[in-house]
Amino acid sequence: MATDLLAQKLAETFDLSDDEFAILLESDSFDGELRRLADNARRSYYGTDVYIRGLIEISNYCRNDCFYCGIRRSNRYVARYRLTKNEILSCCATGYELGYRTFVLQGGEDTFYNDDLICEIVSAIRKLYVDCAITLSLGEKSHQSYKAFFDSGANRYLLRHETASSEHYGKLHPPEMKIDNRKKCLFDLKQIGYQVGAGFMVGSPYQTTQDLIADLRFLQQLEPAMIGIGPFIAHSQTPFQYFKSGSLKLTLRLLSITRLLFPYALIPATTALGTIDPFGRELGILAGANVVMPNLSPLNVRKKYELYDNKNCTGEEAAECRHCINKRINSIGFNLVTLIGNVKKR
Ligand code: SF4
Repeated sequence: MATDLLAQKLAETFDLSDDEFAILLESDSFDGELRRLADNARRSYYGTDVYIRGLIEISNYCRNDCFYCGIRRSNRYVARYRLTKNEILSCCATGYELGYRTFVLQGGEDTFYNDDLICEIVSAIRKLYVDCAITLSLGEKSHQSYKAFFDSGANRYLLRHETASSEHYGKLHPPEMKIDNRKKCLFDLKQIGYQVGAGFMVGSPYQTTQDLIADLRFLQQLEPAMIGIGPFIAHSQTPFQYFKSGSLKLTLRLLSITRLLFPYALIPATTALGTIDPFGRELGILAGANVVMPNLSPLNVRKKYELYDNKNCTGEEAAECRHCINKRINSIGFNLVTLIGNVKKR
């Protein structure tokens, strides 16, 4: 096949061979066509709607030591915090007032929040906000724990796989962390009935084109409802402090390719994208994303949840964030919608 038709082939068949993916990933000459086709695919499922999710960063304690992460347990310079149940409920109340209908509770793997406490918090949110989705992003847990959270009222779970290649995973994580367990967690979540979100970093240290293709292949097996793709950004207090950030171009290219592979997916334009470029989130939407996740965490803890350096939007009140994001999305011809925004898998 002529290489200039590869993007078209991807849009029509929802797949390519590994060699064909490599051609698309390693050249910028297809970017315009990929973006155009990804935009069509997104519009056919979601029109110009962009869903808004309220992110509540409940704790920056973590028992893990991922080499790329600013809140890894070895970083002694982080001022650690935990939100109480009441503080979390207060974030939800602010968010609900502002129109949010999805709350995303995200944190490091913090054993302080045992299963009973998570269930108590989720049940309280569920009771107060029957019309909202509750998304958890609290890392790797047992099947039993995931099931208990689900039974308490959680509907969605985000757990990025970060890289599907076990060799590459070993270069980003300490030996006690295994990609096989991460993958098992994702399949457990799906089996329980969650809308599942996976995803990966672009431009992480030692990443190759073959690793990125492995990420796409893993997503094809999992068929997640949500797919988070953001550039790697170094944090100055991690072993990866001197590595350069992932590129905007390659991240946008992967967003478009992912949209074409999974036209139904909910794909965020991430904060990391907005951090490497002032218009990163808008460019992400134009490349095929359809979700934004502004921060609802209390202002006094925002700076403390820095997974990477110079994270943006850490200094604005929730209402300011909401207003700013609305303006930005409208400026590129899309509509911010406050519906619950479930996945539209046909
Ligand atoms: S990436 Fe997640 S699991 Fe790893 S250290 Fe950071 S918060 Fe913990």
